[in-house]
Amino acid sequence: MMASIDQGRNNKLGCDRVLHAKAIQGLKLFNEGKFFEAHEELEEAWKVEKGEVRELYRGILQIAVTYLHITRANYDGAIKVYGRSLKWLKNWPDICMGIQVEKLRDAAELVMNEVERLGKENIGSFNTSLFKPIQWIEKRIWICDRCGSEMVEKNCKVNCPNCGNRFDCSDLNIYFD
Ligand SMILES: [Zn+2]
Repeated sequence: MMASIDQGRNNKLGCDRVLHAKAIQGLKLFNEGKFFEAHEELEEAWKVEKGEVRELYRGILQIAVTYLHITRANYDGAIKVYGRSLKWLKNWPDICMGIQVEKLRDAAELVMNEVERLGKENIGSFNTSLFKPIQWIEKRIWICDRCGSEMVEKNCKVNCPNCGNRFDCSDLNIYFD
């Protein structure tokens, strides 16, 4: 019973949607510790996404900016941007569009507890192993770059039913160039 109610709420929020390709790229960069680049990709996803889930992208990109400030020993910047991110991160269910949002919220809170403990004077000695990767499950939709139709994937062969365009799913770069 609860599960179906949660499901309905998640769908209303857009949590049943597929992650935007730019968002996926942003999450990968985030997990590589490339916080500036992650922020740029997530910002692109935030700009083009029309649904409410765009605000989740905004929240995650602000966590990326927060972490970037920490790596640059910018205490005030980290505190300020983290404070802003809470508004965009707080109202999502634990998992949205496959992203483990609750784990991210918890990880960011631990990071900020440590930042506050170190204080402005010692933020330079922050241990970056506290930056935990964002976990997500990728459910993806392939859109044909020739005709815009939704493509069909089977055993890593992706075909466009409309125009016959095809490629191998291992060749991901064509989507991220
Ligand atoms: Zn096509």
